[in-house]
Amino acid sequence: MRELLDNNHISTLRATLNGKVIDVEDPRYDDVRRVFFTGFDRKPAAIVRVTDAADVVRVVDLARQTGAELAVRSGGHSRAGHGTTEGGIVIDLSGMNAVEVDAGSRTAWAQTGVTAGGFTAQTARHGLATGLGDSASVGLGGITLGGGIGYLVRKTGLTIDDVLAAEVVTADGELLKVDEGAHPDLFWALRGGGGNFGVVTRLQLRLHQIDEVVGGMMLLPADPGVITGLIAAADAASEDLSIIANILKAPPLPFIPAEQHGKPIVMIQMVHAGDVEAGTRAIAPIRALATPLADMVRPIHYPEMYAGAEGPAPAYAAGTNLLVDELAAASAETILEHLETATAAIAAVQVRVLGGAMARVPDDATAFGHRRAKLMVNIAAMDPRPAARAEHEAWAAGLAGALSEGGTSAAYLGFVGDEGQEGVRRAYPPATLERLGQVKRRYDPDNLFHRNVNVLPQHVR
Ligand SMILES: Cc1cc2nc3c(=O)[nH]c(=O)nc-3n(C[C@H](O)[C@H](O)[C@H](O)COP(=O)(O)OP(=O)(O)OC[C@H]3O[C@@H](n4cnc5c(N)ncnc54)[C@H](O)[C@@H]3O)c2cc1C
Repeated sequence: MRELLDNNHISTLRATLNGKVIDVEDPRYDDVRRVFFTGFDRKPAAIVRVTDAADVVRVVDLARQTGAELAVRSGGHSRAGHGTTEGGIVIDLSGMNAVEVDAGSRTAWAQTGVTAGGFTAQTARHGLATGLGDSASVGLGGITLGGGIGYLVRKTGLTIDDVLAAEVVTADGELLKVDEGAHPDLFWALRGGGGNFGVVTRLQLRLHQIDEVVGGMMLLPADPGVITGLIAAADAASEDLSIIANILKAPPLPFIPAEQHGKPIVMIQMVHAGDVEAGTRAIAPIRALATPLADMVRPIHYPEMYAGAEGPAPAYAAGTNLLVDELAAASAETILEHLETATAAIAAVQVRVLGGAMARVPDDATAFGHRRAKLMVNIAAMDPRPAARAEHEAWAAGLAGALSEGGTSAAYLGFVGDEGQEGVRRAYPPATLERLGQVKRRYDPDNLFHRNVNVLPQHVR
């Protein structure tokens, strides 16, 4: 791939851009080529730190004209390392991180290189928020195009449910503004269809009045009764409450009693976005499941959910996710048994209780077609070293197979790994995939944007 871009291309690009072109000669190269998961050690011919849509157009044109592989990166958190490429060209949007809040209309225009934490910090100045994920460092671009499932999913829906408009550079280098009225097919596809259709440079998002919430982390000892009880309690609670529960062996963290280290626990991140008394009441059944090992759930300002340092990134997260309707007690036992045999240094099974506002949007309204799934189960085996990946993938696949009883199951695009067309078929119901294929043929018939969970222009069944 490298020979497709020569020094002439790179110097011409450099001369015409507002942003920076970083190639192997640049002392920043090794830093800048890195993505979140450190095991993706790829060497692009150039990483372009774009500063505006015109820069994006120039890079897209160059990739199309030369045939160099194009990777598009906002926050760099792709589980499959799609934000980089071997020998190709990377559009790095991290410098395009401006957020313009219009508090009066409760909307914001944001450049897609802003992180979830950065976006939330800006909107929180006005007591406003859009639901994003659980991690401050994830990019607005990637999470939104995949759907966006986070702390407000039951109250305000997926992130895409708050997308009002987008600006996108398509494969032929055109900058389009899309919304319900302009290019509605593309607007539909962008909301769940991932990076398949162009480079989204800006998003207009609806904001909600969310300021003081009851939220934070609670740790419970894990047993099948606690796990199924937690899911039942969260499902029965008001839609103001959304929870993300990680089942794992307790790491040696200072706030976890030493005698619990290495034992299975449920680490629950939760937000009740309503009044404080109602929040305390909503959470009471969860607190009553077992004596908490730690309980940091309290009235906070919403952006505090993103505060605090994130741990060092692993080499990769082997694994996958399932969207399912229930998790029986037997499945809870299966999860706990598998954690005992985990091959990776850190293995976690994350359960998110869905429903509420997310489930009220029709399946065909956006390209996110699994609206009525009750739970997402995200299996991750993380290792700081790149070795032994196959072993960890086998462990994760074994657990996924056991939980879906050997059948293939629906999946959330955002946590699909390197699963090829099987991952595409799991992320999209057939009718959604058919329609995405049509939009792909119209806007990217040559599949310039293929470093993603790739919807092929010629749809493969
Ligand atoms: C630690 C961690 C926590 C996470 N938590 C959550 C969570 O709570 N909820 C949730 O829903 N997801 C979550 N995710 C999944 C995450 O949303 C996806 O991996 C998402 O794709 C990451 O976006 P990014 O911009 O950071 O990644 P990138 O690697 O930069 O982008 C991923 C892909 O998205 C496409 N893309 C990104 N930006 C653009 C753009 N501007 N225009 C066109 N295409 C683009 C490209 O195809 C790119 O390859 C998490 C992931 C990690 C690693």
